[in-house]
Amino acid sequence: MDYLIGVDIGGTKSAVSLADDHFNIVARHSFITGAQTDPDEVLDRFIQTIRSLLDDHRIALSKVTGIGVSCGGPLDPVEGVILSPPNLPLWTHVPVRRRLQEAFDRPVTVENDANATALAEWKLGAGRGTRNFIYLTWGTGIGGGLILDGKLYRGATGMAGEAGHQTLLPDGPLCGCGKRGCLEALAAGPAVARMCHERATPRQIQHWLELTPGETEPNAKGVIRAAQAGDETAAGILKEAGRYMGIGLANLIQIINPERIALGTLAIHAGDLLLAPVREAIAKYAWPQLSTACEVVPAELGDRAQDMAALVLVSVRDG
Ligand SMILES: [Zn+2]
Repeated sequence: MDYLIGVDIGGTKSAVSLADDHFNIVARHSFITGAQTDPDEVLDRFIQTIRSLLDDHRIALSKVTGIGVSCGGPLDPVEGVILSPPNLPLWTHVPVRRRLQEAFDRPVTVENDANATALAEWKLGAGRGTRNFIYLTWGTGIGGGLILDGKLYRGATGMAGEAGHQTLLPDGPLCGCGKRGCLEALAAGPAVARMCHERATPRQIQHWLELTPGETEPNAKGVIRAAQAGDETAAGILKEAGRYMGIGLANLIQIINPERIALGTLAIHAGDLLLAPVREAIAKYAWPQLSTACEVVPAELGDRAQDMAALVLVSVRDG
């Protein structure tokens, strides 16, 4: 039996997972990264954690096929260098691959988390069996990855698949990226929260907040719960967000002609409350020869997505 090691570097939390070559998790350890912690310290922590996981399970280094590292971009997958992710402000030009290779002398693959999750959903989740597959996260932000002709498509600078920042309304709401009217600014979690204030009465907002104990501002989760309980205003907000997602996907479908698109977090929680308007908009805005060839489904890996994203990189390091 051979083993894989996955390293998931996040802005708040990071994790190291050890799995067998069928992607069954043998052991896992997570810790708080802290945006202000020195990257060298975090890398030392990863190295120690990998060593102790292998020791604890009496696994020789020679049995480890490789190490996959998934991290927010921008990063350089060819050199294995993390450049300057917005959620990790101190990580400028950090040579993660070189550090891990020096420590373990095993192959190390570094990829941005959106591409890595797209690969994981394609190999192990909602994209299984397809050759042309799109995965989009749909939470606080909208990011994604493209599998084209059976291979991850990175583009000229590794930024391919940033579908959340296609312009849908040139004078629309301001996006976190600085542009106006991006898909993300119209359909991601903060856009749903914004629509709450525009469309719901103070009484409705109060009620939605009661559905999400601990929250002080209405959010997508509360809107989804309210819509599931029959609130028509909440359902209307989801319909609007879903319509914009559908228009964005229609653009992608028209260009790429994929067989399947999987959507993350919000689509998993809301199901057809979001997916029905998504599919309706796709049918309206993409040609039928393309839209009927493409199914839109919720992502499958759920809580396992981040671990699998890092682990799957070991098996695709040449592709
Ligand atoms: Zn944007």
